[in-house]
Amino acid sequence: MISTRYSQAKFACLLLLAILVGACAPKAVKEGPQAEPKRAVAKYLEQDYARFRAAQVGDISYKLSIKIDQSPSHFNGSNTIEFTLKHNNARFVTIDLYDAEVIAVIANNAPVKWQYNGFFISLATEFLEEGTNTLTINYKGKYSNDGMGFHRYQDAATGNVYVYSNFEPFYANRLFPHFDQPDLKASYELDVVAPKAWQVISANSELGTKRQGEYAHWIFPKTARIPSYIFPLHAGPFHYWQKDYVKGELRIPLRLFVREELAEHVIVEDWFNFTSQSFDFFNEYFGEAYAFGKYDQVIAPDFRWGAMENLAAVTFNESFVKRSSKTQAERQRLANVISHEMAHMWFGNTVTMRWWNDLWLNESFATYMSFLQLSATGEFQAPWDTFYTNIKQWAYWEDQLVTTHPIELPVADTGAAFANFDGITYGKGASVLKQLPHYIGEDNFKTGVQNYMLSHAYKNTELKDFTHELSRSSGIDLDQWTKRWLRKAGLNSIRADFGCEGRKLSALNIIQTAEKEHPTLRSQKINIGLFTLSSNSPAEQIAAIPVHYSGKKTRVEFPSETVCPDFIYPNLDDWAFVQVKLDERSRETLKESILWFYDDSLRTMLWQSMWDAMRAMDISLEEYLSFVLANLPKEESNQILDSTSKQLQYTQDYLWLTEAKSGQFAKLRAQLSEFAWKQLQLAQQASDKQQIWFDLWVKVASSSSDTQRAHTLLRGKATIPGLSLDQDRRWQLLIILNAAAHNHAQQLTEVEFKADNSDRGRLMHLAAKAVRPDTATKAQLLDDIANNNDKFKHAELSSIHQHLFPASQVQLLRELLPEVHQTLQALIKNKEVEIAKDYAHQLRLEGCDKESLKSLAGLIDNSKNADPSVIKQLRIKHQEGGRCVAIAERTQ
Ligand SMILES: [Zn+2]
Repeated sequence: MISTRYSQAKFACLLLLAILVGACAPKAVKEGPQAEPKRAVAKYLEQDYARFRAAQVGDISYKLSIKIDQSPSHFNGSNTIEFTLKHNNARFVTIDLYDAEVIAVIANNAPVKWQYNGFFISLATEFLEEGTNTLTINYKGKYSNDGMGFHRYQDAATGNVYVYSNFEPFYANRLFPHFDQPDLKASYELDVVAPKAWQVISANSELGTKRQGEYAHWIFPKTARIPSYIFPLHAGPFHYWQKDYVKGELRIPLRLFVREELAEHVIVEDWFNFTSQSFDFFNEYFGEAYAFGKYDQVIAPDFRWGAMENLAAVTFNESFVKRSSKTQAERQRLANVISHEMAHMWFGNTVTMRWWNDLWLNESFATYMSFLQLSATGEFQAPWDTFYTNIKQWAYWEDQLVTTHPIELPVADTGAAFANFDGITYGKGASVLKQLPHYIGEDNFKTGVQNYMLSHAYKNTELKDFTHELSRSSGIDLDQWTKRWLRKAGLNSIRADFGCEGRKLSALNIIQTAEKEHPTLRSQKINIGLFTLSSNSPAEQIAAIPVHYSGKKTRVEFPSETVCPDFIYPNLDDWAFVQVKLDERSRETLKESILWFYDDSLRTMLWQSMWDAMRAMDISLEEYLSFVLANLPKEESNQILDSTSKQLQYTQDYLWLTEAKSGQFAKLRAQLSEFAWKQLQLAQQASDKQQIWFDLWVKVASSSSDTQRAHTLLRGKATIPGLSLDQDRRWQLLIILNAAAHNHAQQLTEVEFKADNSDRGRLMHLAAKAVRPDTATKAQLLDDIANNNDKFKHAELSSIHQHLFPASQVQLLRELLPEVHQTLQALIKNKEVEIAKDYAHQLRLEGCDKESLKSLAGLIDNSKNADPSVIKQLRIKHQEGGRCVAIAERTQ
């Protein structure tokens, strides 16, 4: 498709040469402050060219008209660009526009010749003036179906159509021709013609609408100067609710949109409450109240990401709307994402990074701020415990992988902007930002952030502008901090090494280690907690010793009469970014006594330490499992239950994958699923715990009794008092039946699909098909994934990838291994990177043994042409596979 247009563009250029004094012909470059770089004819924008263009044009405003008619594939657009040409010294100005049909280009009231290559329009500067220019481009644009650009979605059951924009980092030019880079900020005037029953949502509230037969014409006022990647245009027959946020003089109209088909499942009160709580915090924290008038939130169908901070019209994934009741943890996740996106309104949308290399700061800051907000004005108990289990653990995990990297990296083009977007950029970035207020003082941090907002509002910045403001407010130089944390990869571990004489502590050292590949040892302040335990009474903290450790070994001073502790935790209160390894004595203490530590935050870290100990092979899989089975039933914290139940799902996977080597694992698997089922029965009715146990049971179900239970529940022959078996849970039961090839699985699945022919029903119907242990079905699906381009939407493919080979079906995976590997090669060759990456991410090792590792290494060798992000997924699989092999060996 692109290559055809390519040759057409060349042909047009040759014609032009004959007629004009060739705009395409090489021409002497006039002298100027910057040489004109050659622009790559590609899907991405290079930093070098963006830098040149930022010096070439400025003072930009857009008048954008879009007409959405009945066409399923195209829309009509016109954009009038006003800009100043700063140095009329280059041959061309280029305007980004992807895969469209250009109809006319008018420069300063005269039609002009132009070239278009499917990626950008080139206009010879001889048609322009030094100073102000007006350029109008009429074109026909294409809707996207991959979630990026201007996405069009049609609901299969109702036929309703919805469109939404999703532009970061370089997809706004799929909607309209413009200068698509974050440091060319512009104001926007928008008007849209759309079907009369639709809502049209953008950065401002509309000035008015006018009926035009079957259509309505929406007119929006001029926006502030913003980067194009956050310019929003969402439209469709949305259902919506509205409410005002009022605080003193300040009034912000709030609206919440969802497609009609999901409206009944939205807990509107939660959305508005969480939004108001976030405004309470951010309006005060940033020193300047929200500046963009209204605030809309749009739950968008077939949305690829969690959410996106489009200016005053944030988009959210539909997974935030659950058809079952929500646990506190799930409600907190929603509050967190609402808050994260709102933080971007200031940090990112008002003050914007100059280039994508500082995207990490944008995301890390919003991640950190959302937890700060939750802990200040939110309604949840312990948001920082969630930060510890979700954000910090993600960072620790990623930082120990062979694929880890420094937080700050150069980004040569927009194609690479998201290549390293992972637990390092989000998780580690947010974790090290969290250290900063401790390091420079909370008030200084806040003052620095406020000054940063004040000095750079509506402008662009780099990291040094941010650290400069923090240094100025605190008087502390941040150069060393930047070098140590942002420019060096790798995670350190610490362990307490202590000895006692009689009943007194005689020596205490902190031992620091680093991974071989990243040998940097760091210096950090920690708080060492010393505890004693006696039978049937809570752990007693006998000392908390703040220490600045550095190097391999740090000797710790302590009062001479300190009692010999039973347990030491060297990162009390989670001050440091470091993984804790428990010493052997403390680990043994914990096995028996974890529940005697009454502090929830500390206990959260202790549970994590036991999981880490198993992954580090300090304890065996059986030891870990028996520890959990003995203690989890009495655990009161839902947060801990939630995070431990995720670890139990991995445990079950390990048990399936190592089965070939060890017969006793079948027994352990059954023990785990029986345990989950029993706890589900014992859980208090209608409690969060009951929901968490249900979710765990459906994931670890492995025996024929489990299949029978699922069948009985589905048929309504049994119930779980207090738990409603709603539509989403019924699908979970059907996954169990299908995975186990139950006699009635297929028939019951079809009946269910008739009853739930919704978008979500279709995803689950596909999942049920993919999970069936049937070679022919799986082979057909693999073939479809590889060769049948238009058969599945993005979300459907993802659902199939996820369910195709559960750990219980490694035998089938082995049989189909050549097809599984060929499918990856086909995706690498023919499909967009995101799909290949998702497939690679869901790939499973066919066993925890050396042969399987070898075959994966072979696949990596054969995938050298793949995008680095796909190879990265494979390398992570290989490293995790190695760990699985080691766990299996440790067990025998
Ligand atoms: Zn974000």
